[in-house]
Amino acid sequence: MQRITILGATGSIGASTLDVLARHPEQYQVYALSAHTRVEELAAACRSCRPARAVVGSADAAARLAALIADLPTSVEYGEQALCDIASSADTDTVMAAIVGAAGLAPTLAAARAGKKILLANKEALVMSGQLFMDAVREHNATLLPIDSEHNAIFQSLPAAFGRVPAAAGVAKILLTASGGPFLNRAVETLGDVTPDEACKHPNWVMGRKISVDSATMMNKGLEVIEAHWLFGAPADQIEVVIHPQSVIHSMVSYVDGSVLAQLGNPDMRTPIAHALAYPDRIASGVAQLDLTQMAALQFFPPDFTRFPCLALAFDALRAGGTAPALLNAANEVAVDAFLERRIGFRDIDRVIRHALDAVEHGPAPSIEAVLAQDARAREAAAHAVASLH
Ligand code: NDP
Ligand code: MG
Repeated sequence: MQRITILGATGSIGASTLDVLARHPEQYQVYALSAHTRVEELAAACRSCRPARAVVGSADAAARLAALIADLPTSVEYGEQALCDIASSADTDTVMAAIVGAAGLAPTLAAARAGKKILLANKEALVMSGQLFMDAVREHNATLLPIDSEHNAIFQSLPAAFGRVPAAAGVAKILLTASGGPFLNRAVETLGDVTPDEACKHPNWVMGRKISVDSATMMNKGLEVIEAHWLFGAPADQIEVVIHPQSVIHSMVSYVDGSVLAQLGNPDMRTPIAHALAYPDRIASGVAQLDLTQMAALQFFPPDFTRFPCLALAFDALRAGGTAPALLNAANEVAVDAFLERRIGFRDIDRVIRHALDAVEHGPAPSIEAVLAQDARAREAAAHAVASLH
């Protein structure tokens, strides 16, 4: 029996994880669940899987949750320390890291330091603190399995993904596929007018609002380039983004002998979640088998960096190293929030990020505290830029 903690149980990844777990009650048991504010949704999840512990964001939310599930054996807690506790407890084996944004860093790191099996959806944590996070994974013998569909596909297409530099594995390039999001073919001059709902309407995936906006700007792909760098030890020049609007191939690895290995499947996050949960075995995920005979043509082309300036900013941040990716991530979170709240336009997102990157000088990232200090400075600079555009 594998005991699981789900950080971010009420989100899109959280719901898909609960769906896969419910198909295999003899193999998995939920130890703890977390949410931030969506107490009713968390109460419903507690009712169906009866975890020992549930964590929310505030005392008020905890009181509301406790009232809703008073008849259950679940203890209710709140705050960051409680998140770190359920991620590192001796009573859990596996942690699904599915909180959105920088808020996921502390508990995901706590899971790494406790040597857990980590199913990593929260790419922002890795982008912010790549070297420190990977060092903690190695030092404490944690197991890190990628949930992001592209990285899960790369992991499946590599002979031994971790602890081996790609060059030694004969890897020529990592080909990270991108759908291009909802605005791939929209006239560039109209992008300033798009609404949050239009930006969140992804053609192939149903996801939370933050990552949906990131997909529309292609910052999501930029964060994924940085994520791939840390997960697979590949330098920026060895990672290539390929637009593939159908999202059937989830990424590829190109080898020096001319072979290209790919992972294909219907676009449904339950596949990578089931893969990582059962790894190295396989379990059913509820995802329909891919019917190749029903498939239209698959297309591939290079990304347009003028249409998607955020992708270029992310490559620059990766090449700059140190705290530059943390600055990029923090500024992006502020800009996306402001866009979702209609305080800035879609085309202002990259402007705000650029402003923050110009205003705050990046440096080395010797500790998590140093990263968080830079993160705070970038948020301040980005908020300033938002205010001046507003
Ligand atoms: P959602 O917005 O759907 O869910 C986010 C979850 O995090 C919710 O449970 C939410 O709680 C919780 N949360 C939000 N803010 C905080 C906070 N400040 N502190 C603690 N918990 C918080 O996001 P997704 O499921 O779409 O994405 C989750 C992560 O997975 C992201 O990092 C994303 O990049 C990554 N990912 C997602 C994919 C997808 O298909 N959705 C694909 C690949 C990666 P509440 O509901 O109470 O607000
Ligand atoms: Mg992805």
